[in-house]
Amino acid sequence: MKIGIFGGTFNPPHKGHVRAAGECVRTLDLDKLLVIPDSNPPHKELAEPSPDEQARLELTKLAFSGVKRAHVSDMEIRRGGVSYTVDTLRRVREKFPDARIYLLMGADMLMCFEEWREFREIISMATLAAFARRDGEENAVERAAADLRNKYNASVRVVGVDALEASSTDVRRLLPERRGRELLTDETYSLIIKHRWYGAKPEFEWLRKKAYAMLEPKRVAHVKGCEEEAVRLARRWGADVEKAREAAILHDITKKEKLDEQLRLCAKYGILLDEVERGEGKLLHSKTGAGIARYEFGCDEEVCGAIYWHTTGKEDMGLLEKVIYMADYIEPNRDFDGVDKLRRAAYENIDRALEMGFRMSIEDMVSRGIVPHERTMGALQWITKG
Ligand code: ATP
Repeated sequence: MKIGIFGGTFNPPHKGHVRAAGECVRTLDLDKLLVIPDSNPPHKELAEPSPDEQARLELTKLAFSGVKRAHVSDMEIRRGGVSYTVDTLRRVREKFPDARIYLLMGADMLMCFEEWREFREIISMATLAAFARRDGEENAVERAAADLRNKYNASVRVVGVDALEASSTDVRRLLPERRGRELLTDETYSLIIKHRWYGAKPEFEWLRKKAYAMLEPKRVAHVKGCEEEAVRLARRWGADVEKAREAAILHDITKKEKLDEQLRLCAKYGILLDEVERGEGKLLHSKTGAGIARYEFGCDEEVCGAIYWHTTGKEDMGLLEKVIYMADYIEPNRDFDGVDKLRRAAYENIDRALEMGFRMSIEDMVSRGIVPHERTMGALQWITKG
């Protein structure tokens, strides 16, 4: 039986790790690859901000889920403290006394191998399987391998990997800049965004794709228009443009859901409803949309507030709430009597535009025999007084 061990901090695991692991399973014909996130790495400090070890474990499971014969083990995390490979190898050796063990590592780890705790003991228990992390590094890996063979009679295999130049450090640097998604698997990226680990913010193209997939196709143009308008309004009135984009992209994501699904989502996200809302699916989509924005896309309170109040409005609206309410009302695809006047007003005095908007929407509802929501009535009173 051939067992590979691939240890690392995986903070977070990226496609470079996954690709190297897959190549090693194939090239070495491993029966099993144990992927083992460490508890505390011996070679470096855990970068700040990093999620806890259970989160790294979860991410690692997701990242390697597509690698054949790979199993993610929590043995080092359970052991706690500084994770020394020699201890892990002893455990694996005990469990699989007859197995041939390959210890996988990238070039950087091979180069500093003589600094590892009890490295001679490690060599006596395992074959080192090393690979380049970037193009052009192959010769250096071969030299380091030859050196270890000559000096210590170590068994070292150099595995040819189509290297992907990536490091967790790069990923952690890029994620807060809404970049780096291409270095991660889809599943790990989604989970990181959901929790906003590493201060990650979603790439807008990714967020749009996710949001549009949740819409009826005919609504996509409206959401695009709303984003465009929200950005313009945010710039005009000094709101946070990136937050305006996030809120506008996500504001209608549950619009197509029927009342029973809306109610299910309200229960799931702990959204409390009044009598009117319980019977009217249309009023619920802003609240359930905010729930998904919060719990699935990790949006902050301000963004979620803007989504939550975009249908009824309310008293004491904040700037981003005003921007999203207005953008939804006047985006370029909207066409109704008075829309041009409302558009002009939105850029001259956003509060007067809101007042006009609330009034128009109340009049429209009354003319159609619908009782306007008391929040909208309250919003009109509040903005009129202000
Ligand atoms: P950091 O940037 O935080 O130092 P890292 O990207 O080096 O992290 P680790 O979790 O420390 O990732 O690495 C685990 C193992 O994966 C090590 O053996 C490392 O050499 C290897 N490795 C890391 N990145 C790559 C890559 N792009 N290609 C192949 N192997 C890699």
